[in-house]
Amino acid sequence: MAIIEVMNLKKSFGALEVLKDVSFSVEPSEVVAVIGPSGSGKSTMLRSIAHLEEVDGGSIRISGEYLVQNGQYASSSKVKQITAHMGMVFQHFNLFPHLTVRSNLELAPKLVRGLPAEEIRSKASVLLEKVGLLDKADVYPSHLSGGQKQRVAIARALMMSPEILLFDEPTSALDPELTGEVLQVMKQLAEERMTMVVVTHEMGFAREVADRVMFMADGEFIESGTPEQLLSRPQHERTKAFLNRVL
Ligand code: ADP
Ligand code: MG
Repeated sequence: MAIIEVMNLKKSFGALEVLKDVSFSVEPSEVVAVIGPSGSGKSTMLRSIAHLEEVDGGSIRISGEYLVQNGQYASSSKVKQITAHMGMVFQHFNLFPHLTVRSNLELAPKLVRGLPAEEIRSKASVLLEKVGLLDKADVYPSHLSGGQKQRVAIARALMMSPEILLFDEPTSALDPELTGEVLQVMKQLAEERMTMVVVTHEMGFAREVADRVMFMADGEFIESGTPEQLLSRPQHERTKAFLNRVL
């Protein structure tokens, strides 16, 4: 069974139709790279799955449970329960500047779950170790490079033990020499079979790590396939035109 099912999703901002009947699904442990021109609705689609935007129509099902069904949202307790399965990583990291790295990781679990402080603390240590930043636990985000900030953001997203991670251009704000360390962490998560949807401009990552690449343009899902199929043998003219510009 699919872990994410998006059916006939529609979303407008005022008169601007940003998602026009988007449908696709993601299998457990699948890594899907989403590519497409700027303004095509990729972030809106990802934010809608994470319930950071509400759609106007269509359905989103996470692990079999409807977040929204034919435009009708589940109850707020149900929505909370469903969104707890997902973590999101943003282009601009969105770390809390007034909190240390460790406190950035510990905040949400303390607020949401009320787990014992010792358990939360040891989990934070394990995850900082995993992204190679345990030695930065007590510093503030302003003392970190962009690549380090993004690795902290990934560790923070993992604190809630999500089954799905959504990434919105996680390396777009980084200097080129810092993208590798972030992609490496994401690659490791993929190897550990985390389900991931990654909006990205990194065609190398899409080719190397994604199971499937999905192309969006003008609020529509155009086509998807294995990296080899989509990047080397695209079927649609719009995909071909986009790839000719970026590859
Ligand atoms: P992408 O991530 O593919 O670049 P977005 O989903 O960010 O595309 O944006 C799609 C379109 O929706 C763009 O034209 C953008 O300007 C518009 N848009 C996005 N968010 C908002 C918002 N909160 N209010 C109004 N327009 C928005
Ligand atoms: Mg975007």
